[in-house]
Amino acid sequence: MTGSGGGERLRERCDTGEVTDPSVAREAIASAVAAGGVTVLSGAGLSTESGIPDYRTAAGERRIQPMTAAELLATPQARQRYWARSYVGWPRFAAARPNVGHEAVTQLQRAGLVGTVITQNVDGLHQRAGARDVVELHGNLDRVVCMACGQRFPRELIDACFEVLNPGFDRSADAALRPDGDVALDDEEVRAFKVAHCAACGSDLLKPDVVMFGESVPRPLVQDCFEAVENSRSLLVLGSSLAVMSGYRFVRRAAALGIPVLAITHGWTRGDAELTAKLDAPLGPSLVELVKAVGDPINA
Ligand SMILES: [Zn+2]
Repeated sequence: MTGSGGGERLRERCDTGEVTDPSVAREAIASAVAAGGVTVLSGAGLSTESGIPDYRTAAGERRIQPMTAAELLATPQARQRYWARSYVGWPRFAAARPNVGHEAVTQLQRAGLVGTVITQNVDGLHQRAGARDVVELHGNLDRVVCMACGQRFPRELIDACFEVLNPGFDRSADAALRPDGDVALDDEEVRAFKVAHCAACGSDLLKPDVVMFGESVPRPLVQDCFEAVENSRSLLVLGSSLAVMSGYRFVRRAAALGIPVLAITHGWTRGDAELTAKLDAPLGPSLVELVKAVGDPINA
């Protein structure tokens, strides 16, 4: 299934500049979702209401300069720095709970209106909210991979190793949690941290099992997502600035095929030109409203 007449009408509105008018956008999004066959593409903006900050300001500026995989693997000092900060941030990151936005996506999926949920988030909150068919485009921070032998470990196991290796290390830093789930620490604290080694091969080349800055999403995963998008009636972008190509390419593919692309997000997106309708509003309340607008299908 590809774009419908509804999509063309929406695009005409887009051409006349009505696309960002909140009431028009709300109506366009509700009618697209009510038609079913929706693929969701979610980003950091969906999880901010769960206490996990996003990467960019509303103007699209990057808040932090994330460590690249190449930097992490280059030196033991870089790994010490990464894991010390991550160790302090982890309890707070792991304690994050799904918000009403995640729950609304699950409701729409259970009602048969939403199919695949492609997420750029590494927090697992869609799954915790009960969503199925979730593609974690950038992996999940709850896993750790050894770059020497390929063995994967649950994060909680590595965290337990860190605890044993670092008795008395202060995890209560009151610095803010950062988008990558870590916390800024001073050099002295970082130097005191002892990193864990791979239980399978003894290497210290442990990396979070996520697509770090400068890495590519595995090709088969990308193909699965293209397929989901191509078989959709519409693509619904939630809380993403589409600044990175890993998500933006799906918007481009949908737009090229005439599949309407709707967005609920805050501020600038790289895909503004491709969007059929965009609602610039808080995610949680907007999604709760959307569920009501399509007839509260779960309670129908
Ligand atoms: Zn290993």
